[in-house]
Amino acid sequence: LPGGVNSPVRAFATVGGSPPFIAEGNGSRIRDEDGNEYLDFVGSWGPLILGHAHPRVVEAIKIAAARGTSFGAPTSLEVELAERVIAAIPSLEMVRFVNSGTEAAMSALRLARAATGRDLIVKFDGCYHGHADGLLVKAGSGAATLGIPDSAGVPEGIASLTISIPYNDLGEIERTFDEFAGRIAAVIVEPVAGNMGVIPPGPGFLEKLRARTSADGAMLIFDEVITGFRVGPHGAQGLYGIRPDITCLGKIVGGGLPVGAYGGSSELMANVAPLGQMYQAGTLSGNPLAMAAGIATLQALEADPPYDALDATSATLGDGFTDALTADSSDVCSNRVGSMLTWFFGPGPVIDYNTAMLSDPDRFARFHRAMFERGVYLPPSRFEAVMVSVAHTQDDIQMAIAAAKDAAESLTD
Ligand code: PLP
Repeated sequence: LPGGVNSPVRAFATVGGSPPFIAEGNGSRIRDEDGNEYLDFVGSWGPLILGHAHPRVVEAIKIAAARGTSFGAPTSLEVELAERVIAAIPSLEMVRFVNSGTEAAMSALRLARAATGRDLIVKFDGCYHGHADGLLVKAGSGAATLGIPDSAGVPEGIASLTISIPYNDLGEIERTFDEFAGRIAAVIVEPVAGNMGVIPPGPGFLEKLRARTSADGAMLIFDEVITGFRVGPHGAQGLYGIRPDITCLGKIVGGGLPVGAYGGSSELMANVAPLGQMYQAGTLSGNPLAMAAGIATLQALEADPPYDALDATSATLGDGFTDALTADSSDVCSNRVGSMLTWFFGPGPVIDYNTAMLSDPDRFARFHRAMFERGVYLPPSRFEAVMVSVAHTQDDIQMAIAAAKDAAESLTD
């Protein structure tokens, strides 16, 4: 395994030390192969809003597995999950299930290009939409700079079709649409950014995107791979009252199994094969175990909506950590939307990638290590979101805050 891992951030490269090898998880806790227990605030990077090994989810997977693990043919489980997703997410009339958030975003771009006959894509600096070639594009400096590949192996010809501009910058949106009028297939955005740390959309940002894309005939794609079923029962589009043309989902919708989804209006989705000419397929797409885990998760969320409680728990955690981290008068900026939180180790406000970059990597790494030593597993990157789950109890939160106080004090020693 390159670097010992199957996804780079797991390697603890920027925080130092070795990652624990996880043996098992239950509720809010995980245990490593050496028998160490941690209070987990990674939650598998978002899917585990119910915590680890939730009994309903495990039972649903067991039942599905006993009936056969894959058919490559339609099943009623796919229809049930599709109906639940469509009922919950306002802009969806039809969805296609895929196997990851990467596939969802990649397919969403293809759909936007198929529907508009245009090539250019606009994204935002610091937003992550998976690792498809055209989305691994860094910020160019200045307005509407055509993209430079962010990874070796991405052809410049593909990267040059992606324009990356600063998040929350209304003026850049105007300038980009003025310069590339009639050529932009889609704007893809995390409606709450979660991959440069948590950054909420500022006043008018999503509204401006909706207005300019509509006026120009471009598609607006909300990448709700993290926010879908996390920031509220109807995703970020429900929370902020903006209806995108295409929505990408993943993480929670698969209940911890590999799932992504993309969708939109029935008319738009009629472009997707076999109805239309846009090809997209998958041997394991709509896999029965993954569908069962997704259904069980959405059922549990619907039966007992956790969002108010999650908001309260997360607020306590956010305030407690901020108090701990600012006790020595250090600069800390805390951003939170519901159960997604980030503490930036620098001055605020953090509103975009440039301001997120002011977070001190060394101080973050030392805090991360100190927390890890105290049995609290935080995302091993200053640009990721802490995820609070239904399984986190008040005692867990108090334990984490006590650890944060102790860890913060140890940094000043
Ligand atoms: N989109 C967003 C907003 C994400 O946060 C991620 C992954 O973290 C992806 C897409 C890619 O999803 P996956 O890792 O399932 O391919």
